Amino acid sequence: MTANLLDFDATAMERFLAGLGEKPFRARQLLRWIHQRGESELARMSDLSRQLRGRLAGAAVIEPPRVVGDSVAADGTRKWLFKVDGANAIDTVFIPEPGRGTLCVSSQAGCVLDCAFCLTGKQGFNRNLGTAEIVGQLWLARRLLGGARPITNVVMMGMGEPLLNLDHVVPALRLMLDDNAYGLSRRRVTVSTSGVIPGMDRLAEECPVALAVSLHAPDDVLRDRLVPLNRKYPIRALLAACRRYLERAPRDFITFEYVMLDGVNDSDRQAKALAALAGRLRCKFNLIPFNPFPRSGFRRSPPERIARFAGILRAAGLTATTRRTRGDAIDAACGQLAGEVRDRTRRTRAGAARRIAELRA
Ligand code: SAH
Ligand code: SF4
Repeated sequence: MTANLLDFDATAMERFLAGLGEKPFRARQLLRWIHQRGESELARMSDLSRQLRGRLAGAAVIEPPRVVGDSVAADGTRKWLFKVDGANAIDTVFIPEPGRGTLCVSSQAGCVLDCAFCLTGKQGFNRNLGTAEIVGQLWLARRLLGGARPITNVVMMGMGEPLLNLDHVVPALRLMLDDNAYGLSRRRVTVSTSGVIPGMDRLAEECPVALAVSLHAPDDVLRDRLVPLNRKYPIRALLAACRRYLERAPRDFITFEYVMLDGVNDSDRQAKALAALAGRLRCKFNLIPFNPFPRSGFRRSPPERIARFAGILRAAGLTATTRRTRGDAIDAACGQLAGEVRDRTRRTRAGAARRIAELRA
């Protein structure tokens, strides 16, 4: 079988080369060609011997996803649609800001977790992305953006739940951090999770990076409704997992994401309950104005409500920022990523409950 070299982190690349009878240091050379220089043609890797290039040509390719959509919003936010197979395409978003450029990367084609306010969840789920498809988004974005290294940060906040696909996400993260590949610092790579506790523990063990946790509610009754995964991993257990994560984390705080839903989770009382809940944990709140989509059933909290909610958190000594909405004109904002996913789950309430029950403990 032909290997895709974008699938290999340093260890896997060494193993692959050993299989071809090559020395481990060749892995470093290959990673640099592929990820630092963005090269996809083995024939052009001029410092590899003709013999090695010949052997590689028979056994491997460098194959990123295919670009099938590319749009730019007035604020410079750029969204690509990358085709990963005959049935599925995924979204990747680049968000330029003064002094930094953030790439928002997808981890799955769709998502099984079906949070009430998320379009990705509503689209259903098809499959996990492979390492080449995850790191390939960064590889392609770098190439398509051109110029001087515009990507300074990566957030795993695109389509899917990264902690349900760690087998492929961890090697992709390792490449993002590898000095022979993208060389990003652990603090500039963020994984966002809806609260998959075993995944948080495993990430801390295998590849600790900055962590964002989608909290969205101050109590289990409401969180059960908004984030159905809460029925399996309720708030108290989630906060304990956050504390464990902090022992290994590259940053000394967890970011809590909190989507602002008008009349649902945005009252003064809920802000106070949230402050009480988070009080003793080192954390920062990132309030995300809800991004609407047809038939969502939710409305965005008005700006003055969001400001007041943030004010209550700050008065309790917490840090709270509000995420600026970017790229909604091109459906590139948080929760608006639908890609093109051929749903293989049957979207019923009973089905969702069963899938959550089946998630690996
Ligand atoms: N599955 C992961 C990461 C992808 S979602 C997670 O849930 O954390 C990235 C962020 O966008 C999450 O905080 C998610 O709750 C939020 N989000 C989802 N739908 C949204 C919407 N319609 N408006 C605003 N934020 C949304
Ligand atoms: Fe999945 Fe995250 Fe959307 Fe929930 S918010 S459905 S976990 S992508």
